[in-house]
Amino acid sequence: MVSICLAEFSFCSRIAYPVLLIKEHLESLLLQPDLKLHISYDIACILKRHLESSKQESLLEKFSLALPAFHTYAHRPSCQIALGAKYCNQNGMTDGEQCERLWSYLRCFSSITKEMSAANRKDLLTDALYYYGTKKIEKMPMLLCKRLAKAQKQAAESEEHLKKLLDSIPILGRCYIHRWLCSVIYLTSIYRIIWFRKRY
Ligand SMILES: [Zn+2]
Repeated sequence: MVSICLAEFSFCSRIAYPVLLIKEHLESLLLQPDLKLHISYDIACILKRHLESSKQESLLEKFSLALPAFHTYAHRPSCQIALGAKYCNQNGMTDGEQCERLWSYLRCFSSITKEMSAANRKDLLTDALYYYGTKKIEKMPMLLCKRLAKAQKQAAESEEHLKKLLDSIPILGRCYIHRWLCSVIYLTSIYRIIWFRKRY
């Protein structure tokens, strides 16, 4: 897990950091070709557009992008549908908000570290993060099994619910739902272009 404060840099510099991190992660995965990189990022839509406009589509094909669940609602519907954590394939039941949980864990240390010297504070937080990371790795197999079971159960229940709904409305087929989703993405994209042109 890597976190960087990107607020102090210009847009091009800011977006360059996640691109660099992704390239480094992809290099580290070269020895494990079976592993697929799924990235959850607050501004995944901007990163995607940046990679497309800078002719880096080949890089984009090597991983999947999603918006963290809580951040999704700050984006327009086209982003929510195209990149929302719950809409993306092979994203499991993850919400992509792991960093927020890390901040929540570190918050417990604010009162005991505020009177410390910078060096002692750094040591304590390093130990705390090491402990947090080790626990996460230990729990990972059990957590992934639980999430898989939960995802399969939810998929089966949703499929059954959708089937009942479609059966109750004979004229409504799955192709209509797909077309409706495509039209929402298209219309909201057009609206964004118009809004952008009016503003700039
Ligand atoms: Zn967006």
